[in-house]
Amino acid sequence: EVRVRFAPSPTGNLHVGGARTALFNYLFARSKGGKFVLRIEDTDLERSTKESEEAVLRDLSWLGLSWDEGPDVGGDYGPYRQSERNALYKQFAEKLLQSGHVYRCFCSSQELENMKEIAKLKQLPPVYTGKWATANEEEVQKELSKGNPYTYRFRVPKDGSMKINDLIRGEVTWNLDTLGDFVIMRSNGQPVYNFCVTVDDATMAISHVIRAEEHLPNTLRQALIYKALGFTMPYFAHVSLILAPDRSKLSKRHGATSVGQFREMGYLPQAMVNYLSLLGWGDGTENEFFTLQQLVETFTIERVNKSGAIFDSTKLRWMNGQHLRSLPQEELNKLLGGCWQNAGLLKESDGLFVEEAVEVLKDGIDLTTDPDNALSNLLSYPLNVTLASDEGKSILEDLSEVAAPLLSAYNNGELLVALGEGLSGWKKWVKSFGKSLNRKGKSLFMPLRVLLTGKFHGPDMAASMLIIYKASMSDVVMPQSG
Ligand code: GLU
Repeated sequence: EVRVRFAPSPTGNLHVGGARTALFNYLFARSKGGKFVLRIEDTDLERSTKESEEAVLRDLSWLGLSWDEGPDVGGDYGPYRQSERNALYKQFAEKLLQSGHVYRCFCSSQELENMKEIAKLKQLPPVYTGKWATANEEEVQKELSKGNPYTYRFRVPKDGSMKINDLIRGEVTWNLDTLGDFVIMRSNGQPVYNFCVTVDDATMAISHVIRAEEHLPNTLRQALIYKALGFTMPYFAHVSLILAPDRSKLSKRHGATSVGQFREMGYLPQAMVNYLSLLGWGDGTENEFFTLQQLVETFTIERVNKSGAIFDSTKLRWMNGQHLRSLPQEELNKLLGGCWQNAGLLKESDGLFVEEAVEVLKDGIDLTTDPDNALSNLLSYPLNVTLASDEGKSILEDLSEVAAPLLSAYNNGELLVALGEGLSGWKKWVKSFGKSLNRKGKSLFMPLRVLLTGKFHGPDMAASMLIIYKASMSDVVMPQSG
C-alpha cells in the first residue's frame, strides 16, 4: 500500500517550498490510491508553536490538499505529533542499545569540544573518537552508578558505504568513513530529530518519503537507523530546491514566499496549486494549465525534474489572472462584487452594476485584490492627470482644445443625458462632439479618455464611461481623487 507523509515543523508559516512538497506527496498518494499522512514535527519545543501548526493546517486546507491521517483527524498510526510519541522513541532507542547498534556515551561537552579541536588541527573529519564506543560493561556500570549523564550514540560502520535508489536522483551513495557516530538521544532523554523521523516513518508504515533535497544528508543517517532497526527501507524521492530568478535560494528578500501571504494578496488556491505543480514537474506537453483533479490524473514521480526550479512571481500572477478569468461568470461576479463591497466601493451589491463592471474591467484583473484598484482607478473622477509625463506633454495641446467644449457639454447636461441613454447614446454624442471639433479616432479619444477618466490607458472607453455614469447615479461610493 502506498503511504506518504508531509511532515512540517511548526516553526513558522507554510512556504511555497513546503507547499510544493505537500502537493507532490498529495498527488502521489491520490494517483496511486494510497494514503496521505500529515505529521507534525515539533521536536524543537522552543521554536514550535500551536499557532504555526494551525496556520500550516489552514494553508494546506486552503490549497485543497486534504490528508487522510493527521493530528486533527486521527488515524490508525497516531499520535501524529512527534511531541506525543516520546515513549515510542525511548522504546526503539532501548532496542538499539540492546542490539549493540547504540552505546551510552558519557563524554562531557568539554571532551567533545576537545575532540573537534584536535580533528581540526589534524585536518581530519570531526568524527567521534571517544572511548565509549568500545568501553566494557564494567566501565559503563561505574558511570551509571555515579549517576553521570549520557547520550545514546549510534555506532556507524567504520568503512563501506550506504546506497539508496532515489526515485528522482537515481543512485545516491555515501562513504561511511567520515560520518562518525552520532547522537540519537540527548542526555535529558530528548530524542534527536533524525531518529524520530526514522521511527515515525517506519512505524507509520510510510512507503515513499518525498521531501526536499536539503534533507539528503539526513537520509544517510535515517537509512542507517532503518537498517539497524531491521525495518524495510521506504523509497526515497528528493525534490530539488526552489530558486529565485537569480538562482539563489528563494528567501524573504525576493518578496512573498509563504502561502498565507499569497492568499492575502488575492491569489486563488487553484492557481497556486497549478503554479506549484510546475516547479519541477510537467506532463511532457506544452500544457501548463491543470486543475488539482487533472494533476492527480497526470502526475507521475518519474516526471519530476532533478534540477532546481525557478520561482517566477510574475508568471504566478499571470497564471492567477488566467484562472480568475476562467471562473464561471457568476462566480467571478460574486467574487469581485464581494471585494468591492468589502473595500467599501459598493454600499450594497448592485448585481447589474457588478456584472457590467466585471465585464469592462476583468482583463486588467489578475488578483482578487486588484478589482479594488481597477474600480477605484476607473471611478477616480474628477481628473487628476499627471501632465508632466512625456505622454502628457505630447497631448497637452489636444487637451486644452478639447477641455473647454467638453466642460460645457458636461455643464449643460448634454453628456449626462447621452450617457443615460446607454451605449448608443454615448456613441451618438461622441460622434457629434468629434464633428464639432473636427476630430476623430485617436486625436479625439485620447484627450477624451484623459479628461474623463484621468488616465492615459484603461479599459474600453465607452464601457468605462457607462460604468462611471452608473456609479455616479447609484450606490457606488466615488473614491476621492488625490
Ligand atoms: N520536518 C522537516 C521539515 O519541515 C521535514 C522532514 C522530512 O520530510 O523528513 O523540513
